[in-house]
Amino acid sequence: CGIVGYIGQNDTKEILLNGLEKLEYRGYDSAGIAVLSDNGLDMFKVKGRIAVLRDKVDNTVESTMGIGHTRWATHGEPSEENAHPHQSVSGRFTLVHNGVIENYYELRDEYLQGIHLASETDTEVVVQLMEVMYNKTQDVAEAFRRTVALLKGSYALALIDQQDQETIYVAKNKSPLLVGLGEGFNLVASDAMATLKETDRYLEIHDKEIVIVNRDYVEIQKLDGVAVEREPYIAEIDA
Ligand code: GLU
Repeated sequence: CGIVGYIGQNDTKEILLNGLEKLEYRGYDSAGIAVLSDNGLDMFKVKGRIAVLRDKVDNTVESTMGIGHTRWATHGEPSEENAHPHQSVSGRFTLVHNGVIENYYELRDEYLQGIHLASETDTEVVVQLMEVMYNKTQDVAEAFRRTVALLKGSYALALIDQQDQETIYVAKNKSPLLVGLGEGFNLVASDAMATLKETDRYLEIHDKEIVIVNRDYVEIQKLDGVAVEREPYIAEIDA
């Protein structure tokens, strides 16, 4: 299973599909991508291989930011409905997740009464919770911090907001995730293999940190919103 995200100047779907192919070795049962542009959000999901996803992706869709996922099912059978990305009820927030949210039942019962869940995954609870928190705060970064602070378990998360083509929101705990740095673009991935064609400069992300990833800058924060300073490192791996 794995995650990729890209925000930059180039055609995102190719970068995401190539990245997911590089993560195939980690194992998965389904895959999907979501890309955002002036034409809105386009999402493609399949049960099966990246080659099948590649066939399904509409080649005319152009976008310079998006997220992708390969799923190793833990909650809900491998199917198109349970494949990531998952969306909040209004469609505003779109999320990919690796790991297991251990308290997803409790979160659902406490915060999501009356909200129809479209999948059987623990992941969907996170994206619905994000919308609940946004409705309370009217602040996407604050809603993301509050959502992540409520999660118990393991997660690598990448989230996009349909109304903002400038930001990917990222968080991690006990699942691998790093940020790749470029000139005029930035990337997110489960491991450096997925992005080595693009960059060799990386930022390590620690557990219970969130990251705001824009085209030209990356900000790491603690869950209370305090910014964290960290120097990037150069990965010395042969692609
Ligand atoms: N627990 C999530 C699911 O079953 C994510 C699994 C994964 O890490 O791919 O959909």
